[in-house]
Amino acid sequence: MKSMIGIDKCIYMEHITFSNGDKVCPIGQGTWNMGRNPLCEKSEANALLTGIDLGMNMIDTAEMYGNEKFIGKVIKSCRDKVFLVSKVHPDNADYQGTIKACEESLRRLGTDAIDLYLLHWRSKYPISETVEAMCRLQRDGKIRLWGVSNLDVDDMELIDDIPNGCSCDANQVLYNLQERGVEYDLIPYAQQRDIPVIAYSPVGEGKLLRHLVLRTIAEKHNATPAQIALSWIIRNPGVMAIPKAGSAEHVKENFGSVSITLDAEDMELLDISFPAPQHKIQLAGW
Ligand code: NAP
Repeated sequence: MKSMIGIDKCIYMEHITFSNGDKVCPIGQGTWNMGRNPLCEKSEANALLTGIDLGMNMIDTAEMYGNEKFIGKVIKSCRDKVFLVSKVHPDNADYQGTIKACEESLRRLGTDAIDLYLLHWRSKYPISETVEAMCRLQRDGKIRLWGVSNLDVDDMELIDDIPNGCSCDANQVLYNLQERGVEYDLIPYAQQRDIPVIAYSPVGEGKLLRHLVLRTIAEKHNATPAQIALSWIIRNPGVMAIPKAGSAEHVKENFGSVSITLDAEDMELLDISFPAPQHKIQLAGW
């Protein structure tokens, strides 16, 4: 068990705890679009290593991102400090395909085991078949935990009903101030079952950061819009965020969000500009 490894510098905040006792910092690191442009690789590697050093130990990749080799190379010297997430592409998510995809990811990542392996989005294969493969991979020690991404509550219920299915340990979904639909049912569903929720695109791919209300609240806290957007996400128990940042400066800034507490006035202002859902909204994203 890796338990607290890698997050020693993250001690003053609430961690996200998985069912095997592994703990991660509520701000992790996304990697979509990283490792594509050789001219950016040095800065991207430096960004990821800066984050790991700060204790932002979750690194999120996927077979679809085409960057697992790059990620494997970056984390080679500090693998023990990283909680590594990868994902199986839905087209590969039948029983044999999931096992093969995972083995190929392990080879590209240069590691013996993936800490959390996700089904990237709902596939054409029965979910029970993917779950069976996930359980097999877990028994064989190739993955430590498994979970899903972009699955709404109805699919989560299907997984819950699988007889002898080992437990689903995470759901990675689109969640930010402009995409609050998951607050209505998915986050409460996950919280009741202690399933961590991982918010992707937490700063709206950067576009959210120009919003006036975020800039106003940021000024009040002597912070930045990104820090406000991220602290707003991680205020929810059991919910974490994985911003992608291509520079060490952005990574450090994002880490700063863990020490910001939004007050009632901030929350009210944010609720006016970005209203909470009043009814079920179909999960956005993939
Ligand atoms: P995001 O993290 O919301 O936004 C990334 C963009 O925001 C980048 O352009 C980045 O610029 C900028 N940014 C980050 N921190 C900043 C800061 N402090 N100040 C100003 N700009 C900042 O969007 P995302 O990449 O879509 O989502 C994050 C991660 O979630 C992905 O990388 C991926 O790992 C995962 N994801 C998963 C799914 C899924 O289906 N499961 C889908 C989408 C994403 P720089 O690069 O210049 O820092």
